[in-house]
Amino acid sequence: MAEKLIPVVCPWCSVGCRLYIVSVDGYPRKIEFDYNPKTPNKGKLCPKGVSSYQHYVHPDRLKKPLKRVGEKGEGKFEEISWEEAIEIIAKKFKEILESHGPEALAFLGSERCSLEDNYLLQKLARALGTNNVEFAGRLCQSSNFVARSKIFGGPAQTNPFDDIVKSKVILIWGYNPAATNPVLFGQYFEKAILDNGAKLIVVDPVKTETAKYAHIHLQPYPGTDLAIALAMLHVIIKEELYDKDFVAERVNNFDALARAVEKYTPEWAEKISGVPASLIHEAAVLFATGGNATVVLNEGINQHANGSITAMAISNLIAITGNIGKEGVFSGVIPGAHCGLCAAVPGVNCAQLPGPVPLNEETAKKFSELWGFEVPSKPGLHYQAIFDAMLEGKIKGIYIMGQNPARSLANSSKIEEALKRAFVVVADIFPTETTKYADIVLPAAAWYEKTGTVITQNRRVMRSFQAVKPPGEAKPDWEIIVMLAKSIGLGEYFNYSSVDDVLREINNVIPALKGATPERLAKNLEGCMYPCPDENTETPRLFLKGFPTKSGKAELIPVEWKPPGEVPDEEYPFWLTNFRLVGQFHTGTMSNRTKSLKKRWPGPYVMINERDAKRLGIRSGDLVRVETRRGSLVARAEVTENIREGVVAMPWHWGFNYLTKDDAIDEFSKMPELKTAACRISKV
Ligand code: SF4
Repeated sequence: MAEKLIPVVCPWCSVGCRLYIVSVDGYPRKIEFDYNPKTPNKGKLCPKGVSSYQHYVHPDRLKKPLKRVGEKGEGKFEEISWEEAIEIIAKKFKEILESHGPEALAFLGSERCSLEDNYLLQKLARALGTNNVEFAGRLCQSSNFVARSKIFGGPAQTNPFDDIVKSKVILIWGYNPAATNPVLFGQYFEKAILDNGAKLIVVDPVKTETAKYAHIHLQPYPGTDLAIALAMLHVIIKEELYDKDFVAERVNNFDALARAVEKYTPEWAEKISGVPASLIHEAAVLFATGGNATVVLNEGINQHANGSITAMAISNLIAITGNIGKEGVFSGVIPGAHCGLCAAVPGVNCAQLPGPVPLNEETAKKFSELWGFEVPSKPGLHYQAIFDAMLEGKIKGIYIMGQNPARSLANSSKIEEALKRAFVVVADIFPTETTKYADIVLPAAAWYEKTGTVITQNRRVMRSFQAVKPPGEAKPDWEIIVMLAKSIGLGEYFNYSSVDDVLREINNVIPALKGATPERLAKNLEGCMYPCPDENTETPRLFLKGFPTKSGKAELIPVEWKPPGEVPDEEYPFWLTNFRLVGQFHTGTMSNRTKSLKKRWPGPYVMINERDAKRLGIRSGDLVRVETRRGSLVARAEVTENIREGVVAMPWHWGFNYLTKDDAIDEFSKMPELKTAACRISKV
């Protein structure tokens, strides 16, 4: 029996826990913990990490390329060879190019794939002449990224996780790390609160596992967080609790902000959010005066049509209290999904190129010189707009790598209709709701079946190594893209013989990753925090000497109140929101095929407040229909005090987006209103 211990990075969330796969005769048999104190997890794993190899051996794994034989939506296919599959795709994409131009093509990358996979996908899109290239970060982190880029000059998390433990105050907003990033919560947040006495403020409509640790828990109606942030700014400025030295030296636009928030009193915010004014006041005072503060937020802020301006208001709070650009503070987003930086940094974005740098004539010219073909400078379509254009017949062909847009985008019924109207290629490890609409399905290698680079949300660049061979004829995504590029006639730009070749090109074109070489990452399993401009350097903390804005200062942005994309009315009187479960992942394509997770977290339910349930004659365990203007879902009721009256909540892993609104889009980030909707509920 040949037993090997292979270092990998957990593929489930953006924390990037390091572990080992024990492979016996080429099969993954179990995992081993890695107690290296320099890794983010320092030896801990959550239920997803522990079971992270189980789904690889599931019988549903895609092992051969497939060609559609039935109607779109039926999911009927026949097996074909790789040669035939690649030839069909290349021929169809060339036909679309000739007849409709490059803007009729679109590409979706994936945070579930490696840095190298994503880099080559966007390069292929650009080599074909389109910037229609996006990934699910648009649907997850984009609002906060936009806000922080405008205010601080860069979106990334500022400090190492260890700085969380040094904070005196922790503000967790629209985020439940105890469920979505449990190792991060246990190793850092819990230690700060329980061992070091940090005070925790949580803002969340649900009394989550995280909120149970809170000293102050604000429970607003979904999407009204902006009112609370504006009122906190009002209190801190009016009572002169802000950091005067920091504001004087490192912040612009303070007077304009002070004028803008004058009218947003806690009493005003109470009327909008339902949170008592006294509690908002208490939270503002604690946040401003309690000492070094960590501020983390997530989809509860980002996934609203007012997400960017809410994130701007929260960034203003961070800036005026001086909780940035020093040791002992931490701020940013921490997705519960795999890390978006694997796709964001290499430019899988309709308006950014690798770096990421904004797409404009100058950067397009620079990359044209680097790559040797002309890079289009006109921005492409954002994620939701790609599907709107598909519905209108303008997008004729799409290549989807490791994404399930049929379930991850707002208004699923509409997305399914759009997918019927284009030539659809999906590369994935399992059949999904999206593959049902595919013309060609390509079997991809899963994370432990290939070597690749990951950038965790904490800016840590790490390598994960191939532990076992892919099943059947499955291949790493980067290899599939190279095959396709060669078949289309772009081989001279895609001349790679190994994944290391791809990373070396990335080292060459992205200055912040110059020092993250294959050799360095193989030697140092804990990786390095980018920017790493050479092999001996890393950057644990950002903004220590100023902000990368034109002025070098944080540029505060005064914003005005705006409601979320849909609010209750007489017909649909409840606020609906969603949450994630510790043992489920995204749309469940992998976690529902992981035996131990499926057993413990088997399906959806709907949380209803006790008083609402009594009024409607609903008891725990009853089947309840949740209905919005887009569609309805049926789930078992969980009657509880953990959700406020007037709000209902469901886990989003089982088709939640049949309920969400696709035509309320954030002005800056282009985020659809994924987090709340107006609904009605009835006993079935
Ligand atoms: Fe994996 Fe995230 Fe759990 Fe760590 S916390 S084991 S990265 S799912």
